Amino acid sequence: MAAGPRLREFQLIEHVRRLFGHTGPSVILGIGDDAAIITPPPGRHLLLTTDLLVEDVHFSHSTTTYEDIGYKAAVANLSDIAAMGGAPHALAVSIAVPRSMNVADVTRLYRGLMAACRPYGVSLIGGDTSASRQGLFLSVTLTGYVAPGRALRRDGARAGDLVYVTGTLGDSLAGLRLLDTRMRKGLARRDIQYLIARHHRPTPRIQAGQFLVARKLATAAIDLSDGLSGDLAQLCEQSAVGVEIDAAALPLSRAGRAYAVATKTDPIQLALRGGEDYELLFTVPASKRAALDRFRRHAGCRLTPIGVIRPKRFGLTLRTSRGDVLPLRNTSYQHFSSNG
Ligand code: ADP
Ligand code: MG
Repeated sequence: MAAGPRLREFQLIEHVRRLFGHTGPSVILGIGDDAAIITPPPGRHLLLTTDLLVEDVHFSHSTTTYEDIGYKAAVANLSDIAAMGGAPHALAVSIAVPRSMNVADVTRLYRGLMAACRPYGVSLIGGDTSASRQGLFLSVTLTGYVAPGRALRRDGARAGDLVYVTGTLGDSLAGLRLLDTRMRKGLARRDIQYLIARHHRPTPRIQAGQFLVARKLATAAIDLSDGLSGDLAQLCEQSAVGVEIDAAALPLSRAGRAYAVATKTDPIQLALRGGEDYELLFTVPASKRAALDRFRRHAGCRLTPIGVIRPKRFGLTLRTSRGDVLPLRNTSYQHFSSNG
């Protein structure tokens, strides 16, 4: 590592441990041994998720600070635990560090990671460290807990269930586009700031996921990391169902709508395509709609019904505001293809 004190791997780990290795009562042994030791809460199932971020594939340091890169990496994992309806618990972080990064940069990365985790009391319990010859690699692993049999899986949706999303859609994609200052014409400063913040610091819907589990309201859930059209297709595939989405119901933020107007983007396409919103998509039996409405304030965010699950033979469809029912195309981001 250049520019700044050249630290050895051991010293870097010690530095990270001192600054960020706070542990909770359920962590018996954190950073520093061959493995961490955890006491799981009695009678809970363990959730485990991991995410790999690669420089210039998932993020670009030219437009994103190390703090924001860390923050978003943590959110990607927190959102996976949210989508299972779990409570996040412990974090392991593996990094391959290019020569262009110094210790202060690594510290910023961890500061962002831990800032996203702080509201949930997540402990940093380990990781691995390497040099990299080509850009930053960041792999984050997060554990969580959920009551047995209650996790929100992708395969539980049934025909007749209502489809909901949390929050608003398309903000992150709009924010990403607005990192290019040439795209900002005709937009108010606070809308630009809002959308970029939604891109760099999305909110994991932990509270909403736990609310759905606690009240037994949802049959299935997935978090929106690639975009509604793609992630919904995943859920439908795994549940062996079709779906009809109501275009007019798709929730956009005020800033997202302003972006669509200013850039002549179709707001429906923005909502269907936009990735990295980290909202939850979930399905609710029609019989539980009243209960969801009654308790929705416990979700901690907006919940919007956007369609209904159909039998598989219906396929994936979009009802337009004029009442036409069209095939719902997958326009979401896909790795190993050219549409990203
Ligand atoms: P090992 O030889 O078993 O991989 P390391 O020297 O890599 O051991 O790690 C020593 C301790 O430091 C372990 O507890 C490990 O989990 C932790 N650790 C290593 N790298 C990181 C990192 N980048 N972030 C957090 N913890 C780390
Ligand atoms: Mg190691």
